[in-house]
Amino acid sequence: MAASNKTTAVYRLIMVGSGGVGKSALTLQYMYDEFVVDYEPTKADSYRKAVMLDGEEVQIDILDTAGQENYAAIRDTYIRSGEGFLLVFDVTDAESFSDLTDLYEQILRVKNGGTNIPAILVGNKIDLAERRKVTLDEAEQKARTWSIRYIETSAKTKHNVDKVFCELMRIVRPFKNPVRDPGPAAPRPTKSPKTKKDRKCIIL
Ligand code: GDP
Ligand code: MG
Repeated sequence: MAASNKTTAVYRLIMVGSGGVGKSALTLQYMYDEFVVDYEPTKADSYRKAVMLDGEEVQIDILDTAGQENYAAIRDTYIRSGEGFLLVFDVTDAESFSDLTDLYEQILRVKNGGTNIPAILVGNKIDLAERRKVTLDEAEQKARTWSIRYIETSAKTKHNVDKVFCELMRIVRPFKNPVRDPGPAAPRPTKSPKTKKDRKCIIL
């Protein structure tokens, strides 16, 4: 490919959800291929890595939020800076599921009252099947009312971990590359990969 001086796109993604749902564990599993059992619960941090997303090199920037979101003003600030959100709950903790409603509404409000936010509802800890409290049906129904996708993960086994970050970048992508109205007869934009084989999302 010819060298290009186009700057690399940065995808600013934010982990939200109650304490203990696995925001840090998901982030660290994605970034470092490690399951961390005792990550400091009050520590918020951000992580950046180069990723090949469907043939385009981009940067993923993940903000792993923690206790600081108790201050609404701080929450507003990071929500404003985010382009995509992983709304994480723990499938063994019903309260963590209902907690997301407030967070979701706050994101909607901060994102200029839009009706639609680039987000995925994430049900984590599905390896703990025997302790499950939130059913697949309930979670899918909630996601449908928010017009977003629902994906189940395990930060412990890495089930669907890469998938949630990659899919969220794909959801954010059209917002970053707005297609100017091409007129009715114009072909579809060619931003998405032509073949399934080109559809890859790999940390570089
Ligand atoms: P955070 O407060 O949302 O960042 O939650 P953490 O990532 O610190 O996780 C809280 C606890 O849940 C830790 O002990 C993690 O090891 C554990 N945990 C996180 N994800 C999973 C998972 O998918 N399965 C299991 N079994 N435990 C998990
Ligand atoms: Mg954490």
